[in-house]
Amino acid sequence: MDVSDSSPSLVHNPVYCLGCQERVPAERTVIQFRTGFYKAQIPLGSCDRCTPKHTILTQLWNSLKTGHFF
Ligand SMILES: [Zn+2]
Repeated sequence: MDVSDSSPSLVHNPVYCLGCQERVPAERTVIQFRTGFYKAQIPLGSCDRCTPKHTILTQLWNSLKTGHFF
């Protein structure tokens, strides 16, 4: 994937991962919640390492992909 055209805000804005409870680069997250923010600035999400570890996150991710909420 060519990322040179990506919005700088997407690349540099960190996402607060609910799994490791750390800020991770947006490019490493597979889920970003549009409704939740950490410290009102950092969007909540889950990184590629944590998503498979957390069943609820995996289910959420699947529901986002399929459009079906369980
Ligand atoms: Zn994580």
